[in-house]
Amino acid sequence: MQNYAIDEKGYYGEFGGAYIPEILHKCVTDLKEAYLRIMESESFRHDLERLLRDYAGRPSPLYRSEHLSRRHGCRIYLKREDLNHTGAHKINNTIGQILIAREMGKTRIIAETGAGQHGVATATVCALMRMPCTVYMGKTDVERQQVNVKKMKLLGATVTPVTSGNMTLKDATNEAIRDWCSHPSDTHYIIGSTIGPHPYPDMVARLQSVISREIREQLLREEGRNYPDALFACVGGGSNAAGTVYHYLDDERVRIVLAEAGGKGPESGKSAATIHLGRQGVLHGCKTLLMQTADGQIMEPYSISAGLDYPGIGPVHAHLASTGRAQVFAVSDAEALRAAFDLTRNEGIIPALESAHALAALEKVPFSPGDVAVLTLSGRGEKDLATYFEYDDEPVSR
Ligand SMILES: *Cc1c(COP(=O)(O)O)cnc(C)c1O
Repeated sequence: MQNYAIDEKGYYGEFGGAYIPEILHKCVTDLKEAYLRIMESESFRHDLERLLRDYAGRPSPLYRSEHLSRRHGCRIYLKREDLNHTGAHKINNTIGQILIAREMGKTRIIAETGAGQHGVATATVCALMRMPCTVYMGKTDVERQQVNVKKMKLLGATVTPVTSGNMTLKDATNEAIRDWCSHPSDTHYIIGSTIGPHPYPDMVARLQSVISREIREQLLREEGRNYPDALFACVGGGSNAAGTVYHYLDDERVRIVLAEAGGKGPESGKSAATIHLGRQGVLHGCKTLLMQTADGQIMEPYSISAGLDYPGIGPVHAHLASTGRAQVFAVSDAEALRAAFDLTRNEGIIPALESAHALAALEKVPFSPGDVAVLTLSGRGEKDLATYFEYDDEPVSR
């Protein structure tokens, strides 16, 4: 049987590992040696459970969509991560990591952010724990995501614009790593997805695995069995998807369907379809699939949804895709918009554009009448309203 779990060296098959500068060796090793012990401790579990419940609002509901069920002729549930505090699944990870940082005696937090969603989730928990917080953000992103920049500042964080490279997420991540190298003893770096050097992909996947743990319990109540026939999630770096599939990785009864951002089409040069376009390489401490030019330069990703345009992909997803365990679709901007308007008008739920990519993937697979599918609605559409208003005159069929 295939093994989808991480090995002792931090690899999923051929992907993963920890490719880091010498100066970070101690930080990463300390974290590697501490995270499992802390996460399994009674006090961590108690604090995490309380904050996830009373602060983030968990468990998030598992909602059966009558509209989508009718459309596809089976039973389709939405895992409502959009209802969490701060509007997405990202808070699950930042709450967990700040508790780990506190336990390790760290007194300062740094983070990278692209669209600003992870920056806001990090600034939020730093306000909660009253820890100083610096968020690195490409200057281009600072200019196009003013609301999130203001939110982070309101929450007390320092937002540092990054002017190297294309001034976007990749460059912000490089700068955060540079900061960590200069402050290894007091600083914890909260990475926002299942990326980065081992143990980050595993740590983030475990923190997001609350999603599949709840799906198991909720399905058992609703359907009398604790597994679905298919799971759907969108992938940027891969954290909501990793959390959605975590407890089902080895359960071959459960089909895994992932949606990456096709942008204007994988061949158009304006895409973030990393799994379709990527070749193996090392970025931000991790061996994975990367969008790169023939001579190995990282290509700037593009998607209508800012949360999906990372040039890499989590090593676990690279492995799931290359072994065939997960089926991966590149969903275009237009398909995602259509799916977002459809859910908005027929269900009264305005999804995040990222989540709309997963919704669009429902159109790409066949269902049988008895099927049960669960789709993680990773976030709410508030942050995407400007885009939705711009395209609102598109006709949408009922
Ligand atoms: C950030 C974000 C994503 C993409 O990140 P993953 O790590 O791939 O989950 C997806 N959906 C929403 C709503 C987001 O904010």
